[in-house]
Amino acid sequence: MIPAKFDYERAGSVDEALTMLAQHGDSAKILAGGHSLIPAMKLRLNQPGVLIDIGRIKELRYIKDGGDHVAIGAGATHDDILNSDHFGGGLEMWTEAAGMIGDPQVRHKGTLGGSIAHADPAADWPAVLLASDATIVVKGSGGQREIASSDFFTGFYMTDLQDGELILEIRVPKPPAGSKSSYQKFMQPASRFAIVGCAAVITMDGGSCSRARVGMTGVADGPYRATNVEDALTGKSLDEGAVESACADAAEGQSVMSDHFASEGYREHLARVYAKRAVMAAS
Ligand SMILES: Cc1cc2nc3c(=O)[nH]c(=O)nc-3n(C[C@H](O)[C@H](O)[C@H](O)COP(=O)(O)OP(=O)(O)OC[C@H]3O[C@@H](n4cnc5c(N)ncnc54)[C@H](O)[C@@H]3O)c2cc1C
Repeated sequence: MIPAKFDYERAGSVDEALTMLAQHGDSAKILAGGHSLIPAMKLRLNQPGVLIDIGRIKELRYIKDGGDHVAIGAGATHDDILNSDHFGGGLEMWTEAAGMIGDPQVRHKGTLGGSIAHADPAADWPAVLLASDATIVVKGSGGQREIASSDFFTGFYMTDLQDGELILEIRVPKPPAGSKSSYQKFMQPASRFAIVGCAAVITMDGGSCSRARVGMTGVADGPYRATNVEDALTGKSLDEGAVESACADAAEGQSVMSDHFASEGYREHLARVYAKRAVMAAS
């Protein structure tokens, strides 16, 4: 449980962090809240030569109204999101999910940027980002780029983030009027990671569903949008029977995980149950 030897540098600004990243190349690792990276280093699953600490960069820690979207700095903690009043009008699932992450220590140190960069298949935020159609703003030596969340998560602990790139901001579009959202999860009782989690944003128009976004986590080796569920919900009145039938195949097309927490069959069952709960709560 003792990490391999490493050097430590603290960046005072985004520019400084980018310079340090460029200087140290792939021996460097960004340290934000440390609640995923440090455990991995203690298990020697990760052995960076240099840690670049971005945990005190103030310019990365904000949540603000960007007009048609909410802008969240990568350094915003889970607790910052939990206590923000920016997540109304169809974005309620953001505070709901934040409150279900770990314990107070994890929520006060862990950051949104760190969680999505780590891309744990049981993490909560990836499902919420997917259901939000969020965009991730990253910067590296090649400049700044924006990545759609549907392109960002590429597999088991894998993202589209390239060596030397830093996540700066997560942009969350405000959903159309008439939207509600919910995040529901079956959690691992000790860590509270999602064995299965579902984020749903439902827009109702004249008694029927005009738009649905359903993001799933914990089911497969990476998060995904259950587009078959979204299609089955759209145009329906969303009584309990209609929702249950639309969510019946929430794990369809996925290579469903099986581990000592839940078998493949149980996860498939949980996927349909939690998709139904999230959609019902959001409609
Ligand atoms: C006991 C415990 C319980 C937990 N429970 C949950 C839970 O219920 N749900 C859940 O979703 N998570 C849970 N977590 C994980 C927690 O949310 C972490 O805080 C989060 O996954 C990582 O954020 P961090 O800021 O701590 O990142 P770090 O651990 O500092 O970094 C994680 C990775 O992201 C990279 N990184 C960090 N910031 C950036 C950036 N801005 N740009 C590029 N790369 C970056 C790092 O280099 C590293 O590879 C738990 C963790 C613990 C220890």
